[in-house]
Amino acid sequence: MSAQPAPWVCPTCGDPLRFEILDDEAFLVAWSCLNCGLVRVTEPA
Ligand SMILES: [Zn+2]
Repeated sequence: MSAQPAPWVCPTCGDPLRFEILDDEAFLVAWSCLNCGLVRVTEPA
């Protein structure tokens, strides 16, 4: 088992995150948790 949680699972409550594309051209993606309200935004390297 890896010590790091999967990016699609909320690190706070462990619920699955909802995938949302913010900018298709810039590959900007937001992961939001409906349970605790956490939002994560990922950008391309
Ligand atoms: Zn959560």
